[in-house]
Amino acid sequence: MNSKVIIHLSKLDHNLNVIKRQLDPGVRTMAVIKDNAYGHGMLELARHIEKKVSWFCVAEAVEGKVLREAGIIIPILVFETPSIETAGIYTDHDLTASVSDISVLDILKKGTQYHLNFDTGMHRLGMLPDDVEVLKAKMADHPELECTGIYTHFYKADDPGNPEVEHQLKIFRKIRKQFPDDLMTHTANTGAIFYYQHLNLQFDAVRPGVCLYGYAAGQKEIPELEPIIDWKSRLMQVMKISEGQPVGYGGRWRMPFEGYLATIPVGYSDGVFRGLSSKINVEINGRVYHQVGTISMDYMSVFLGETRIEPGTEVYLLKGKDLTAQEWARISETIPYEITTSIKEKVDREYR
Ligand SMILES: *Cc1c(COP(=O)(O)O)cnc(C)c1O
Repeated sequence: MNSKVIIHLSKLDHNLNVIKRQLDPGVRTMAVIKDNAYGHGMLELARHIEKKVSWFCVAEAVEGKVLREAGIIIPILVFETPSIETAGIYTDHDLTASVSDISVLDILKKGTQYHLNFDTGMHRLGMLPDDVEVLKAKMADHPELECTGIYTHFYKADDPGNPEVEHQLKIFRKIRKQFPDDLMTHTANTGAIFYYQHLNLQFDAVRPGVCLYGYAAGQKEIPELEPIIDWKSRLMQVMKISEGQPVGYGGRWRMPFEGYLATIPVGYSDGVFRGLSSKINVEINGRVYHQVGTISMDYMSVFLGETRIEPGTEVYLLKGKDLTAQEWARISETIPYEITTSIKEKVDREYR
């Protein structure tokens, strides 16, 4: 084992409670655990929170199949558009389909439940407001299928106070009125839950994703949330190197004075972007050290200064609120979503 990700299930519970405190009475939680729970490990997290949420949401039907085969029984909504190849998975495993295109109703199998997905401005997936009439006719042609919900997705909810959210909501409300009252209605992702509660956009349920794992959706922090992930390794080698000597490929960093250098067996093949080279910190024995030199495929270097530390000593790359994926995202000009989903399968995961 060269490194290990530790997922703190108690922090997941904590984040879920933070989310629930934001919710209006009676609003249900549809936990978004797509893409291996944003890289944290779908099954373990699903098992842990199944009784505390109402639904799970996944990106692909096959993820839903995996959840069912592991014994998950709560409702599961799949975001992707069903195809002829995947249509059977929905009925075989009791998954709720997303209908983002009218033609999908022709391929779903008898008995499939589905939610209507409307595009109100993001222009990624979903039917347009003008599709309503044709859609309703097509729905009437398919009484063997069961429509149980309706939703949309905000594209700017990570930005507090953005008028586009209200604009999308207005379009959605107009569409919503044209369908039966009893359809389960949901719109809110993390940004909408935390930054737009005043718009009354929670309807019957919310779809929190990144906040479950401890991050805000955008620049505005949500201080109550706690990253559920730690990533730790051990010093593989410790060397005394003289002043001016290069470190790593390209020799882009040089020893500022004679001192100790540690090699950690984690690199970009594990999911630490090479672009983070010489820009991140690690923690050893409670003290912060700089990662130096170019991150290579399986290794990175850490400058220890004048003190030697024993090889084998534990080192943290990510740690709670001290060393965060948010910080790596800031440096890489990306978002925490991309950082955690980039941690490779080969990295061991421990759940506690
Ligand atoms: C990923 C996703 C979410 C969750 O978004 P977060 O920003 O992580 O809360 C909700 N709804 C849909 C349709 C999604 O694709």
